[in-house]
Amino acid sequence: LTKTAPAAAPTPMMAQYLEIKEANPDSLLFYRMGDFYELFFEDAEIASRALGITLTKRGKHLDQDIPMCGVPVHSADDYLQKLIGQGFRVAVCEQLEDPAEAKKRGSKSVVRRAVTRLVTPGTITEEKLLDPGESSAFLAIGRTKAGGELALAWIDISTGQFRIAATAPERLLSDILRVGPREITVAEAVFEDPELRPVFDQLGLAVTPLPASFFDSATAEERLTRFYGVSTLDGFGNFSRAELSAAAGAIAYVERTQISERPVLERPEREDSGATLFIDPATRANLEIERTLSGSRQGSLLKAVDRTVTGGGARLLAERLRSPLTDCDAINERLDSVTFFMAGDERLASDLRDILKSSPDMPRALSRLSLNRGGPRDLVAIRDGLKAAEAVRRLLEAADLPAELSRAAASLSAAPGDVANRLDAALADEVPLMKRDGGFVRAGHHGELDEMRALRDESRQIIARMQTELIEETGVKSLKIKYNNVLGYFIEVTQQNSGALTDTDEAKGRFIHRQTLANAMRFTTTELADLESRIANAADRALAIELEIFDRLQAAVIGSAEAIRGAAQALAVIDVSIGLARLAESEGYCRPKVDGSRSFEIVAGRHPVVEQALRRQAAHPFVANDCDLSPEGDSEQGAIWLLTGPNMGGKSTFLRQNALIAILAQTGSFVPAGSAHIGVVDRLFSRVGASDDLARGRSTFMVEMVETAAILNQASDRSLVILDEIGRGTSTFDGLSIAWATVEYLHEKNRCRTLFATHFHELTALAETLANLHNVTMRVKEWEGDVIFLHEVARGAADRSYGVQVAKLAGLPESVVTRARDVLDQLEAQGRESKASKLVDDLPLFSAEVAKREPAAAAKPSRIEEAVAELTPDEMTPREALDALYRLKGLI
Ligand code: ADP
Repeated sequence: LTKTAPAAAPTPMMAQYLEIKEANPDSLLFYRMGDFYELFFEDAEIASRALGITLTKRGKHLDQDIPMCGVPVHSADDYLQKLIGQGFRVAVCEQLEDPAEAKKRGSKSVVRRAVTRLVTPGTITEEKLLDPGESSAFLAIGRTKAGGELALAWIDISTGQFRIAATAPERLLSDILRVGPREITVAEAVFEDPELRPVFDQLGLAVTPLPASFFDSATAEERLTRFYGVSTLDGFGNFSRAELSAAAGAIAYVERTQISERPVLERPEREDSGATLFIDPATRANLEIERTLSGSRQGSLLKAVDRTVTGGGARLLAERLRSPLTDCDAINERLDSVTFFMAGDERLASDLRDILKSSPDMPRALSRLSLNRGGPRDLVAIRDGLKAAEAVRRLLEAADLPAELSRAAASLSAAPGDVANRLDAALADEVPLMKRDGGFVRAGHHGELDEMRALRDESRQIIARMQTELIEETGVKSLKIKYNNVLGYFIEVTQQNSGALTDTDEAKGRFIHRQTLANAMRFTTTELADLESRIANAADRALAIELEIFDRLQAAVIGSAEAIRGAAQALAVIDVSIGLARLAESEGYCRPKVDGSRSFEIVAGRHPVVEQALRRQAAHPFVANDCDLSPEGDSEQGAIWLLTGPNMGGKSTFLRQNALIAILAQTGSFVPAGSAHIGVVDRLFSRVGASDDLARGRSTFMVEMVETAAILNQASDRSLVILDEIGRGTSTFDGLSIAWATVEYLHEKNRCRTLFATHFHELTALAETLANLHNVTMRVKEWEGDVIFLHEVARGAADRSYGVQVAKLAGLPESVVTRARDVLDQLEAQGRESKASKLVDDLPLFSAEVAKREPAAAAKPSRIEEAVAELTPDEMTPREALDALYRLKGLI
């Protein structure tokens, strides 16, 4: 039997650590110890693995070694970035007092510490951790108690943007994707709601459920008024209960992560969901708007059209592409801005661009300053940003600006010139990163500061002189006056020479021994000590003055936050407009005509991404193609183009390019086409390519059906629908039947503008019965048994698939290709092709079928229904009734 000694009680420091850690169980705790942040226990194990740093031990807890690792404070940002990137949250715990203070309270007392900030993916502000061109928002979801209404509120702490929008369960996912947050917070009950839970699970984002009290709409108003320091929300506009709940949750999350600091946020601005083009989640992913399906930015639409030169401009363009507009006037205003820079004087645009290029990111600097995390360089960013704003304003002064740009010019005029002047007068040209390093205030700005600096610098010369004198006095040529952090200034001589400073009584009285090293001895003198304290005092005083100036400048900047942000937004608008004008010029884009019609007429359209890629690869040129889905004659119904053609013929490219052209047009950009006339699209749907969802236990076919169902249930007659190869993942007859019924439903019920690509050639027979359906095909040429793709869209139907030829191109073994050709010949000889036209003859019309099953939905009663309605059974003889029955039967 071994006797165990009672476990030692934790040290006071460990007790403090454990208490703080217990309050932050879901974050890694960065515990400040001098120049390091240290992590202990499991945190240390996790972080050492995630960061690839050494795991060591420090002391014992309950008789076990305590695992520990640490990162230096000065490079903490790099480590934070890695951890946040891997999905961790970090609680930063700082020392709230100087260790000397703690010692005064007694030898056992520990330095007071507290968590000053939670670092989470959606609340970072450090320049190093942020991508200049990407927004960094977190989103809160609010819901009324009754459970009906849902709303979103999102805040980008790094720029102060705060928006609110209503949503609904069925569009929650697509609205979240439109916002594109880094992180989500939501009430526990909403998170656990079985209807909504799948949305959170498939986002792949950090979701933090919080107690209901954070989202309480009853106390929301109070939370908001307290945050903004106002007595009522009246000036903010009217918000629904769900919107208030979301806003309160968002503010609560700011308070929870920023602890005692408060960012300056814009007032919440409501976004009307009807004002933006609805893009369903599958479409958003498949069209690779911001990222490709594999997650890279290269190859996305955004990357292909982004010619902005500022972070703010890049963020604005991304935001606009994520949520294109549906209001014609607003779209045309944006197009006018692009036109202005295209038609206008070339010199103006390039001068503006030069200024923009070197203009710093004001909103992000502003946010750091408001959170007390800013440094001298953030003040310099505001100074230079305001200077750029003024320079841009002056360049635009004489111009005759369209509406959007003239609003931007007005915001530039409202920029706080006085703040710019103060910053300019106070700040040096080159400034250090940290304010505690001092030296950022311009010489000549502050009398006492200049004096203190002179004293400090002069003292350095006095020390040099003192060294010379001491060398003469002692005769030790190698005597040096040196400085280190422990001793301060000291006199150093080698051991051999130390006699000169210790042997005589006089020397003993004068040189005070400080330290003996292996081959050197260190001394001080009263004069040196005096001088040292003068230098230290002067340096301290100088720094104190600089910090005071910093605080005053910071307060002035924060006081003008709204005007500064307005100016920054104006610069972003101008950057985006010039960027789009450049794009249009260099890529040969045209201004789309956007109106309230149901037109969709693209002449010589191209795919913005594929076109550039082909050029980069110096491959064959991109073949432009027309697309016309406009209603014909007096009809209000859009057309369906049924596109057939071989694999690799260019079907997907054609489908996608038309969807992308619609997005670009409604974003307010010129489009890759010879000309384009687009009646505003309210919803854009696309089912393209096989977006595999196998990880979530859905087969490719199931995903395809779910997406198709969403389209058929939601597309209106203003929508644009792009469908690629419906019904591929099942047996031929199943697939054909589903594709067939889908086309009919789109034609008869949704009545939307549609592009439908298929490899079921049988479907082309539908053109006989569906008035607005047109067959088009990707042209190919056959040459000596091979197939040549022309990438040209032409009227008509493909006569065959050329699957075997494509398989040959792909390098299938010759014997397989030959065999496949034989099998195909056999099948074709059996007349497989003829079945479809028979189908059209045999099947009743889709509308008649619908009328049978959904009488309420049918527009017109059928002939049978009319005949039945005319019967009056009470007045009929049995003979007449029997005749009527025969007549009815004859109608079928
Ligand atoms: P499909 O969907 O018919 O199988 P894709 O649209 O995937 O064909 O196109 C296959 C390839 O053909 C693309 O990778 C692209 O390089 C090229 N391509 C497609 N459309 C065009 C075009 N209009 N002009 C030039 N090349 C094109």
